[in-house]
Amino acid sequence: MCGADIVDAAVQSARRAFEDWWQTPPVERIRILFRYKMLLEDHFEELAKSVTQEHGKTLTEARGDVRRGIEVVEYACSITELLKGEVLENIARGIDCEMVRQPVGVCVGICPYNFPALVPMWMYPMALACGNTFVFKPSEKVPLTSIRLIELLCEARLPKGVLNIVHGGRECVDALLTHPEVNAISFVGSSPVAKYIFETGTQHGKRVQAAGGAKNFVVIMPDADYEKSVEGMVDAAFGCAGQRCMAGSTAMAVGSAGEQFVPAIAEIARNIRVGPTDRDPDAQMGAVITQQHRERVRGLIETGADEGADVLVDGRNVKVDSQPNGFYLGPTLIDKVETNMTIHNEEVFGPVLNVMRFDDLDTAIETANQCAFGNGCCIYTQSGKAAREFRHRVKTGMIGINVGVPAPLAYFPFSGWDYSFFGGLHIQGREAVYFYTRAKVYTSRWFRPDEGYIWHKD
Ligand code: NAD
Repeated sequence: MCGADIVDAAVQSARRAFEDWWQTPPVERIRILFRYKMLLEDHFEELAKSVTQEHGKTLTEARGDVRRGIEVVEYACSITELLKGEVLENIARGIDCEMVRQPVGVCVGICPYNFPALVPMWMYPMALACGNTFVFKPSEKVPLTSIRLIELLCEARLPKGVLNIVHGGRECVDALLTHPEVNAISFVGSSPVAKYIFETGTQHGKRVQAAGGAKNFVVIMPDADYEKSVEGMVDAAFGCAGQRCMAGSTAMAVGSAGEQFVPAIAEIARNIRVGPTDRDPDAQMGAVITQQHRERVRGLIETGADEGADVLVDGRNVKVDSQPNGFYLGPTLIDKVETNMTIHNEEVFGPVLNVMRFDDLDTAIETANQCAFGNGCCIYTQSGKAAREFRHRVKTGMIGINVGVPAPLAYFPFSGWDYSFFGGLHIQGREAVYFYTRAKVYTSRWFRPDEGYIWHKD
């Protein structure tokens, strides 16, 4: 758990390395990333196992975590194309204007626990490709995969000091947020911390992008493909034990959809096998991250029941015989959730699916739009008109149409809105290039040689 002194050493190391790294031609920078990509492929299974072991998600989910991360490295390998500037000749007679993008300097990445491979790789590959140096602080709850990711980057012959890793909690984060040599901060985590990071970082003159928590609604229309929507909803709600910022946390059943849909989900939820994902190959859902987190989720389920919701499937007391002390929760389904309930307004971040029922799509959209968070929203329908209406009017940054977890891939921005994102430029895609660089505009005019400034007289 690093304090200010180690943070200072890491930042100074990044600052020293910056002078040479930003002058390194982009094509040479990406040669290192190409080598890195190959090493990540060679160590793919080892990394996935590490994710499963320290996080608890299934091996299949862990493979997805690593794969999506590698895709960002692949995208970063196209930086020679992405970094090109703009030119306009003759903005006035004989005068040309050019815009180039230069790196911002020392960048920092502060990560959450729930995607130990993907979220770090959202950040440093793009930052490094753009010519920045980096200080990376993984979540103190999952530090092991991060260390391995960075060892492989060293093996890919990244020059010393270009990437530095520090471990820690609040003290470490505060030292990064206020360090005068830090230029930009990427953060992913819960919304209250994201807001704090954004406010503190910007007050200290840093460029900040801070992605926060979520509450994602999934509308099921009466004409939805029944099997596909049930399958999609189960994965969205209970995949990674609900510890996903794009988890589907509330099913909004419109019209008659709920009658068929709710019993089907309940049946599947009751039969999901919960267990140690690193030892039991049949386990479909692992433990949540800590005992404290399990207690928090249990408390929210209890509050839901106290406030009048109907707990149809209750995972609070699930038993895993082989690991009686594990932090397990079973899938939980809560019906008749209302907008004034705590369970509706707070991010649960556990395997808990709320159900709300609506007479029509309009009221479902209105309710979704009242939510403070703005990460994702999905609809299952066969109607192009309903889907079009939904995607146009709903106020979140990522929309799924017959897709339950619409997390964008490396080449699109991960574009949360409102209480789910603080800052201007998002993580991933071209926005990442804009975030990790700043524009410089040259306006130039050339006179006849005899009118010009003489550089060397002799
Ligand atoms: P968290 O906010 O508790 O921690 C995130 C990081 O912030 C960690 O590195 C942690 O050490 C640090 N931190 C925690 N408390 C702090 C404080 N008071 N001051 C300074 N630093 C602090 O988040 P978590 O529990 O690790 O991750 C889960 C959260 O992340 C969920 O809310 C989830 O929705 C969110 N998340 C969002 C996205 C997204 O793209 N929007 C992606 C993944 C996870």
